[in-house]
Amino acid sequence: VLPILLHQYLYRIKTPTSLPTFLLIGPSAAGKTALLTALERGSPIPTHTSTSPLSVQALLPEEYVPSSASYRSPGDPAFERARRFVLYDTPGHGKLRHFATTQLVNPTNIQGIIFVVDAAAVAEDVGLNETAEYMHDVLLALQKRYTGNRTSKGPKEIPLLIAANKLDLFTALPPHLVKISLEKAITEVRKSRVKGMKDSGVGVDGADEGLGEEKEWLGDGGEGVFEFGQMEEVGTNVSVRGGNVVGGQGSDVKDWWEWIAEQL
Ligand code: GDP
Repeated sequence: VLPILLHQYLYRIKTPTSLPTFLLIGPSAAGKTALLTALERGSPIPTHTSTSPLSVQALLPEEYVPSSASYRSPGDPAFERARRFVLYDTPGHGKLRHFATTQLVNPTNIQGIIFVVDAAAVAEDVGLNETAEYMHDVLLALQKRYTGNRTSKGPKEIPLLIAANKLDLFTALPPHLVKISLEKAITEVRKSRVKGMKDSGVGVDGADEGLGEEKEWLGDGGEGVFEFGQMEEVGTNVSVRGGNVVGGQGSDVKDWWEWIAEQL
């Protein structure tokens, strides 16, 4: 069944769309599907159509202003057009994950990435490590995309939102702690990846140069403490914002809508 899924996934990802597209990424059960549904429903005018189960058109609600249209007035067709975007769900399934990261190397229409994190799961070591490994690979793919760019225009910026989800749960870490915990855990992932590379002999015997050029490790030099701010140098601004898709007090996705509006 995997080859079929793969084929469908690749087919969908190649389907061209001129609308700004946001990639939804994250480990399974973080809440990607729930978020997709919530953001889709958040549109006040039901003009969206599901182009496929994985990609969905959405409309920025009226109370948010797309940054590209901030000087236009509501009702202006260009203002309304600027509110439209596509959300692209990617499989969190382990075996399919690398397709999400491969896509990042050559993104066609990607305006931004929304990495959904279960803020309660990252309070525990297992959840934190799983999330950090996945995030490390996504960030490394983004870095390679940037450093490997050979076009005269230069690579475009791809911002990344860490959506700290499930804040309705009392075990959830607040966004600033989600950020600190992930930076620490990604530092560890990076350390073990660099060690793995050294142990396997990559980067020794004068192969250093090649390795340096390919930049197989995340961030400058791959040593010391990793901070999301280091991604600025490779065209990715990372912000961490909290919310919850479901929960007793109702859904709170305001900060994520705001982030999307800033990118539109
Ligand atoms: P996906 O695998 O990333 O697509 O995750 P789902 O969207 O399927 O969500 C996994 C589970 O988490 C489901 O049972 C959701 O109802 C639940 N969930 C999603 N968002 C929230 C949230 O904000 N708060 C709580 N408490 N549960 C959530």
